[in-house]
Amino acid sequence: MLKVINPANETLLRELPTDTPETIRAHFARAKAAQPAWAARPLAEKIEILGRFRDAIVRDTEELAQQLSAEMGKPRQQARNELRALPERIDFFLHHTEAALHPQDVSLRQDPNTPPATQEMITYEPLGVIANISAWNYPYFVGSNVFVPALLTGNAVLYKPSEYTPLTGLSIAKLLHEAGVPEDIFVTIIGTGEAGATLTSLPINGVFFTGSYATGVKISQAVAPKLIRVQLELGGKDPAYVCEDVDPAVAAAGLADGAFYNAGQSCCSVERIYVNEKIYDAFVEAFVKEVQGFKIGNPAEEGIYIGPLARKEQLDVLDAQVQDAVSKGAKVLVGGKRIEGTGYYYEPTVLVDVDHSMEVMQDESFGPIIGIQKVKDDAAAIEQMNDTTFGLTAGIYTQDAERAKPLLAQLNAGSAYWNCCDRVSPRLPWTGRQHSGIGSTLSQIGIHAFVQPKAWHLRTPA
Ligand code: NDP
Repeated sequence: MLKVINPANETLLRELPTDTPETIRAHFARAKAAQPAWAARPLAEKIEILGRFRDAIVRDTEELAQQLSAEMGKPRQQARNELRALPERIDFFLHHTEAALHPQDVSLRQDPNTPPATQEMITYEPLGVIANISAWNYPYFVGSNVFVPALLTGNAVLYKPSEYTPLTGLSIAKLLHEAGVPEDIFVTIIGTGEAGATLTSLPINGVFFTGSYATGVKISQAVAPKLIRVQLELGGKDPAYVCEDVDPAVAAAGLADGAFYNAGQSCCSVERIYVNEKIYDAFVEAFVKEVQGFKIGNPAEEGIYIGPLARKEQLDVLDAQVQDAVSKGAKVLVGGKRIEGTGYYYEPTVLVDVDHSMEVMQDESFGPIIGIQKVKDDAAAIEQMNDTTFGLTAGIYTQDAERAKPLLAQLNAGSAYWNCCDRVSPRLPWTGRQHSGIGSTLSQIGIHAFVQPKAWHLRTPA
């Protein structure tokens, strides 16, 4: 049985029966048998079905937000925000899949009025049965980035929610099935990492994973001999640079939200801030004021901005990062320790006098903790920002577009932000470099991720 614990009060929410290797194999066999018929259904029907799922999310937002909040500790308003932004993402796929899958005639023609000697066409076919191994931090976002386009393009999905958000996973399945997705085409696998490992041992046709670098590597090694499509959406150590020409209070408000929203548990949370020395003191003062204003508490209550962490183990990671930084000369301006009592709470923490010898400026924190480092100019900022094994997002705050764009072009990251951060758009590819992952979700590219091209060479007999 899988125990689902409320991280805010450590009470048991539910106990769920888990899948075994036998049940997972049986789910796979049924999905494989059902997939061709699903693929053969007209796209218009699939769009209608996923459209009903979208409408159900709108209808049930409040109830789903309550469940998400209880299961992973996300403050109620932030849970609502995730659910309220979801329809826009689903709409993107509903409106763009047809164009993305449209067969392309790329024949070479000497004369537009005579048929080509050989007709050359590209069509797109589903991968087959894919594994969608998902994360707990934004289960609706990171799940739907995968399963919505996967289903629309004709795949069957074995969906493994994180062991920290299985109730959300079951709600997603219920709503998809009610909307008309056949039960064998979207199957939830309940269990821990072991269930995920069983899943990747099966003859699946693709694996789409969101989570840590360490698990991403394990998954890619496990499926390597199969030579299947592998996409890994991993973490980051996302930097932002504040130039001296900005209003420090405005930049501080934006970046504090980017660092502490969802208690810092986002792959694209701001994890490192570099500030031009000319504005450093004013920025730090404004930033500290912002953080001191955050309301911490029970995520079920309205008005709470910082809830508990979803995972108890992460408290030790944060403690170790703070201790390591302080032992090397960093100063704690706010917070710096776990909050005693019930629940997995950590004080929002601001560290200054940090440098790159410290874990907090190198390793993913995935919690409410940030290091702010002074830099002397743009070149020093770029050097520090690129001094990382990750490459998910990076941002520059300046009034001057002509300054921002060449700086952003030098950053080795999948997303470049000018005067914004911690932002995802369904119209743009979500893509990491280096240890932040491989492949892309969202945008047209994130639709093609779920299909394989077929090249047609068609020669009419003479
Ligand atoms: P993991 O990477 O361990 O887990 C992510 C998913 O993979 C879960 O569904 C997990 O199942 C599953 N899994 C674990 N081991 C295996 C395996 N061997 N084969 C297949 N699937 C497996 O992340 P955690 O949730 O434990 O979080 C740890 C850290 O990962 C965080 O602190 C953060 O740094 C990072 N992370 C990054 C995310 C992002 O958005 N990029 C999201 C979440 C975490 P189960 O949960 O049941 O063990």
